[in-house]
Amino acid sequence: MSQFQKKVDVVRTELVARDVFRLTLMAPEIVAAARPGQFVMVQIAENKDPLLRRPFSIHQASSEGLLQILFKVVGRGTELLAQCRVGEQVSLLGPLGHGFIMGDPGKACLVGGGMGIAPMFFLAHRFIEQSSSAGPRVMPRVILGARNREELEPLVIDFQSLGVEVLAATDDGSLGHHGLVTDVLKKLNLEPESTVYTCGPRPMMAAIHHLCKKENIACQVSVETTMACGMGACLGCAVPMKGGGYRHACSDGPVFASGELLWSL
Ligand SMILES: Cc1cc2nc3c(=O)[nH]c(=O)nc-3n(C[C@H](O)[C@H](O)[C@H](O)COP(=O)(O)OP(=O)(O)OC[C@H]3O[C@@H](n4cnc5c(N)ncnc54)[C@H](O)[C@@H]3O)c2cc1C
Repeated sequence: MSQFQKKVDVVRTELVARDVFRLTLMAPEIVAAARPGQFVMVQIAENKDPLLRRPFSIHQASSEGLLQILFKVVGRGTELLAQCRVGEQVSLLGPLGHGFIMGDPGKACLVGGGMGIAPMFFLAHRFIEQSSSAGPRVMPRVILGARNREELEPLVIDFQSLGVEVLAATDDGSLGHHGLVTDVLKKLNLEPESTVYTCGPRPMMAAIHHLCKKENIACQVSVETTMACGMGACLGCAVPMKGGGYRHACSDGPVFASGELLWSL
């Protein structure tokens, strides 16, 4: 797999919701090699403050060489990233990790929670491209969840712009179903040949794993553990496996078949 380390230009910055930002970067080499579910390590500033790169899922990779990341400000690194302006540069390393294994778009159900929605957009886009190159466009099913309408609505609109019908769920009921994405998923009664692709908070992914296991449906999860190097060198992102031992989210994942992981920890 090709990987690149590049200083790239920031070409667009957007405030999507409170504390949620989208950066558009000109990164043609990384875009050409990128697959949904892969991520990039972003080095925030020239002065290397903070020193470590931070991992972000590839939110979109367009044919014009533009790469987008969608992120929430949670600490010093994301705070600095949110202050990046058009014309500035950031250092990118990627694409990294193993992404989603894409099956039949008509049997795909994408479930994103919170910032776990970020990789789902690229995945939905690729599913639609894949289907339209083989015949009529087939839309994957998409379920998105967040705390409230303010956080979720701009992202729902993005997916709708792809032509996708979005089933929304919010914790406070201000948009879509009042409750969890798993309630919505249960009601879909997916056929057994379906595959669920998911990214979000660990309890959400654990619940989705258990639901899929019960219904005998395949499920792939993207695990966003904290990580430092992104290349399997620092051992900071070890995830416990069902069969014993650990694997690295950065180099073995971040996408795993949900049945491979130990969910009880
Ligand atoms: C493969 C991968 C893909 C990711 N994709 C995205 C994305 O698309 N959008 C996005 O907003 N975030 C994403 N993250 C999480 C993102 O990397 C962290 O939010 C970021 O590194 C925080 O950096 P910081 O310096 O702002 O915060 P820090 O100062 O490093 O941490 C602030 C707080 O956030 C917690 N934290 C840091 N990283 C994580 C994490 N991975 N999971 C849970 N809590 C964490 C810390 O424990 C601490 O409490 C991804 C992580 C991984 C491993």
